[in-house]
Amino acid sequence: MDRSHFSPETQMLGYGYEPALSEGSVKCPIFQTSTFVFHSAEEGKSFFEMAYGRPGHEGEVPGLIYSRINNPGMEILEERLKLWDGGEACAAFSSGMSAIATTLFTFLSPGDVLLYSNPVYGGTHKFINNILTQFGIEVIGFRAGQSKKEVEEILVQSGHAGKLKMIYVETPANPTNDLIDIALCSEIAKKYSDVEKNVLVAVDNTYMGPLWQHPLKHGADLVLYSATKYIGGHSDVIAGAAVGSGELISKIKKTRTFFGTMIDPHTSWLLLRSLETLKLRMEAAAMNAEKVADFLSAHPRVEKIYYLGYTGKNNPVQQDIYEKQYLSNGAMLSFDILGGEKQAFTFLNNLRHIKLAVSLGGTESLAEHPATMTHVDIPDEEKELYHISPKMIRLSIGVENYQDLIWDISQALEKVQVPLAKPAEFI
Ligand SMILES: *Cc1c(COP(=O)(O)O)cnc(C)c1O
Repeated sequence: MDRSHFSPETQMLGYGYEPALSEGSVKCPIFQTSTFVFHSAEEGKSFFEMAYGRPGHEGEVPGLIYSRINNPGMEILEERLKLWDGGEACAAFSSGMSAIATTLFTFLSPGDVLLYSNPVYGGTHKFINNILTQFGIEVIGFRAGQSKKEVEEILVQSGHAGKLKMIYVETPANPTNDLIDIALCSEIAKKYSDVEKNVLVAVDNTYMGPLWQHPLKHGADLVLYSATKYIGGHSDVIAGAAVGSGELISKIKKTRTFFGTMIDPHTSWLLLRSLETLKLRMEAAAMNAEKVADFLSAHPRVEKIYYLGYTGKNNPVQQDIYEKQYLSNGAMLSFDILGGEKQAFTFLNNLRHIKLAVSLGGTESLAEHPATMTHVDIPDEEKELYHISPKMIRLSIGVENYQDLIWDISQALEKVQVPLAKPAEFI
């Protein structure tokens, strides 16, 4: 049946699964098995030849061999996940970090340069600066908000612009919601590409994807996810994904086979279930976030709000990127509380419903303190540069009734002792 005209939310309920192959089961069962029986030795031989890219099988897809290489649940999940981004293929992973690490190790070799945006997820920052550098990969950071000219200057000043191999971007940046122009990164990548090497642009789309930002449409080559967040959506799994062209994803899958960073059968099954409600959950959370942002913006104990809905208030460049790249304001927001760490901690310790926990994108709302938690490892002077101060609180808004969320935030703010009230200021 041709389902290609269906929307992704419809496709999440059947695409890639054939009930007749599983005793008519309406839902794709969990294939909790490590290995698969071949019909004959000849079949086993040809599956292995295909899996290892031996000639003579062009265009053929290997059958099931071993769950580190392939598994029905993993493959169906990958078929569905690629649809939102409009990618040709997807690779699913055991975590967001394993998706990121496996992808970067696939395309970077000693001597190559990685240009990356700041701020990025704390784990990514550590991986880039402490692990990649051990393998002779040079890493150069730029800051969200810098112009194309400034970014190119940083690259040229390094003296190794000719070795640029990949641009890695996280937008909106965590936890500040600063935006980076993906098309602009793609222009820089093209400028430094030649017949020998294709400079790739990879975008961590965890915050807004897969619904509200489609990096491939803006010139990115690869989209990366922590599927632990919105895709999983219930704070009960760790998983990741990479989406892109068939050619790039097949290279990533080869590395994945040897790192063993693939997703497991049970988590694949949980994610298939999560994908059915992905759009409903994300839309409900975004509607709630707007109400919470409006409440916070009018609160005297709130100094500044970092929310996509307020991006353009006094920054026309960010507003341009916002209009071009985003389909929603999302459900992640941060704010600076009037005061410092003491006031931020009092607020966090007094929340009654919203849980004090890192992570994001789940059905329940969560609050955390980036400066001492998710971003603790970033050097102080960099934190200051990115506005990750002790007064910042990050909220991941869930699908509760928004009035209950506002009640909780309001009563926790009342507990905070601040000397002087001043009006909220927007970014
Ligand atoms: C959580 C997160 C990651 C890491 O993903 P894990 O699933 O925890 O390994 C990477 N990038 C962003 C933006 C994240 O929020």
